[in-house]
Amino acid sequence: MRRSVRLAARAIDEITSEAAQISGQTSTAKLTKEEGKSPVKGTSEVQKSKATKRAREKSATDHDQNEQKGSKLKRSVITEEKAKPSIKRVKTDPDAHTAIKSDHEDIIQPFLTQEKLVGAHVSISGGLHNAVSEALTIGAKAFAIFLRSQRQWAAKPLEDKTAELFKEACAKGNFSPHSILPHGIYLMNCGSPDEGTLSKSRSTLVDELKRCEKLGLCLYNFHPGSTCGKITVEESLDKIAESINLAHKQTKYVITVLENMSCQGNTIGGKFKELGGIIDRVQDKSRMGVCLDTCHAFAAGYDIASEKGFTNMMDEFDTVIGLKYLRGVHLNDSKGDLGCHLDRHENIGKGKIGVEAFRRLMRDPRFNGIPMVLETPCVSENTYQKEIKQLYAMIK
Ligand SMILES: [Zn+2]
Ligand SMILES: [Zn+2]
Repeated sequence: MRRSVRLAARAIDEITSEAAQISGQTSTAKLTKEEGKSPVKGTSEVQKSKATKRAREKSATDHDQNEQKGSKLKRSVITEEKAKPSIKRVKTDPDAHTAIKSDHEDIIQPFLTQEKLVGAHVSISGGLHNAVSEALTIGAKAFAIFLRSQRQWAAKPLEDKTAELFKEACAKGNFSPHSILPHGIYLMNCGSPDEGTLSKSRSTLVDELKRCEKLGLCLYNFHPGSTCGKITVEESLDKIAESINLAHKQTKYVITVLENMSCQGNTIGGKFKELGGIIDRVQDKSRMGVCLDTCHAFAAGYDIASEKGFTNMMDEFDTVIGLKYLRGVHLNDSKGDLGCHLDRHENIGKGKIGVEAFRRLMRDPRFNGIPMVLETPCVSENTYQKEIKQLYAMIK
């Protein structure tokens, strides 16, 4: 096997057993007809959701301002200057976040491009900077990485030299911070009922956000958590939001990006209203985002295989979360049927979602300028390269 294949295979091996990894999760996927239905909301629930969305929009003024300014920006690359902005933070200042945001505006603002930024989850084997070469080799305009070994709590500190090499490689490869979507380790459960797990998850979240900042990155994607069947969803949402609030206070600017899940076991985030519920509880909403995983959405019951189902899903996303929070996509077909609650990724067009759904996504301007990352199985030595080409060809 050639090195690039081995790396790709390793990267995907890092991803595939994703669903079973959340600490304490019981993977009791059910395939009953009842559960296969798309999530349906009653009228009062929709009205309530609209009201909370309005409230969320109101309190996210900073976010809006950033977006307006961002529209004037052209695509930028990471520079030494951007990666190490001077920070004039006064910890006791209640408006510290506002002050900090202005210091980091150049990193936080979305660069608005009409391009689709398609890429893949690449391996960090051999060093973080190798991930960048891997991304370039497969023709990616975006990529995802783990920031450290994803199956253990302990991690070596991120060396200055490693961070510098990574930043240099990104600048050379013309990867802006907005095209890179690092993925949190699977062990984390920021909504855990277990005090020990919760505490380790919270320190890990802070550690990973600090790594992002040292690497000049502005997005950080992670799985919201799990109730482990021991607490209610609402209680878990409280814990997740509190974990995020604590992490935001200990870091400067990175946007925490929640991933939608497949409703497998006791995981949180299969239903959009749960993601909206977390954002509602977070103080600094300008540092919140959502990554839409197509396989997870389909498995959770959102019928993106059909045009109507896709429209309904996007409408619900906008109603209960807000489209402005959409900061990334995981492009995966699904081995499992609609609503199966199984997190089983399949290659593009080879699963139950089908090629037309991905064509719709690739032609939809709402997905412009955000990382769209493949996490599909590596079945041949150039799977990702082929799938990236296949996806770009769908735009025409
Ligand atoms: Zn994930
Ligand atoms: Zn994913």
